[in-house]
Amino acid sequence: MTTLIKNGTIVTATDRYPGDVLVDGEKIAMIGTSLEMFVDRTIDATGKLVLPGGIDVHTHLDMPFGGTTSADDFASGTIAAAHGGTTTIVDFAIQYRGQTLHHAWETWMKKAEGKAAIDYGFHMIITELNDQVECEMDALVRQGVTSFKLFMAYPGVFMLDDASIFKALLRTGKNGGTICMHAENGGVIDVLVKKALAEGKTAPRYHALTRPARAEGEATHRAIALAEIAGVPIYIVHLSAAEALEMVTEARDRGLPAYAETCPQYLFLSYENYLEPGFEGAKYVMSPPLRPKETQDRLWRGLAFNDLQAISTDHCPFCMKEQKVLGTDDFSKIPNGAPGIETRMSLVYDGGVRSGRISLNRFVELTSTSPAKIFGLFPRKGTIAPGSDADIVVFNPNRTMVLSARTHHMKVDYNPYEGRTVTGVSETVLSRGNVIIDNGSFVGRAGAGSFLARASR
Ligand SMILES: [Zn+2]
Repeated sequence: MTTLIKNGTIVTATDRYPGDVLVDGEKIAMIGTSLEMFVDRTIDATGKLVLPGGIDVHTHLDMPFGGTTSADDFASGTIAAAHGGTTTIVDFAIQYRGQTLHHAWETWMKKAEGKAAIDYGFHMIITELNDQVECEMDALVRQGVTSFKLFMAYPGVFMLDDASIFKALLRTGKNGGTICMHAENGGVIDVLVKKALAEGKTAPRYHALTRPARAEGEATHRAIALAEIAGVPIYIVHLSAAEALEMVTEARDRGLPAYAETCPQYLFLSYENYLEPGFEGAKYVMSPPLRPKETQDRLWRGLAFNDLQAISTDHCPFCMKEQKVLGTDDFSKIPNGAPGIETRMSLVYDGGVRSGRISLNRFVELTSTSPAKIFGLFPRKGTIAPGSDADIVVFNPNRTMVLSARTHHMKVDYNPYEGRTVTGVSETVLSRGNVIIDNGSFVGRAGAGSFLARASR
């Protein structure tokens, strides 16, 4: 099967030029101008951008949390991702206490197999560390699960103590893995949550008020310090607070390999969303919580100046009906998470590139190239070059779309950006050479996605 994408503007993290892309089988075979050849299919990209497929390195599909399960499974979640121009995800497998990492990996492989419509990899969440688990970390790195997520929050469920975190960091110095950190001070938050509930403060906004920005700043500082002592890189997930960004910036200014991602919700939503009437604020209950509006400018600056290296979604959808309502009388029982796997590329293009906050090349870098490099997928993924996988988005920079639960493909009954108009739409999407979104319609197949064994550092 050969496909020729003609007359588009090819954009990578470094270049932008008019050209044609020849796809042969699963790979990009050739790039040139005015290519004329017999192919099975020609896609006219006149007036469109030809981008490397989006890479979302933070998703939670089919994930049990707080007595329920995130609303998208690997079929609906990856189809929604494809609609939004994302062709690779890295999801999180969870080791529950008393279980092996291998068991967790097998469990999540089964969840994805036969369902994922795009390629996928896994990070491994470690909730209990002992000698055997440390050995298993090495084995997983060899099998292509080369990153591990640790929690400094959720005591009693996910949280690890500093000694365990430090041991895991040291281990990655030997096995070439990368530690990803959920950086919030869980002990402090727990005390604040109990105190609020005792005072009868049960509304959704208390979720945010009991998770102060400084608790994220403190944990981010500690995570980076532990990594510095261990002599290894660290990646901070879903950075939301200016207080945390300052810690990353300070570390990077000292030359430390500290990396961090932020998410669209922290760039486009704010604490004010918790004040929406009734129980509506529950839509935005996620951890870390939404921050004051002023934080948005700080995060955009961090993205522009490379103190933040990636934009992922932390897609973790729970329906208002039957799921978020578990916390009607108690904000601490509202399942934490919000949808976003489908809307990332359009939101960041519209709010980032069109508004002049980041360049077009930086947009590609933040949504595809840089996460590919950090997580061992480059150059197979994350760029448009001969030999790379033909994961390609034909993106219409002038078309507008209204984001809404009525039209989105995520299996969740609300959209946090309901009614927002964005300019810039993924129209046609190829995954390893196959057209999976054809002018806005899904024509791929659940189960066509493959597990990606990622490289170690
Ligand atoms: Zn997450």
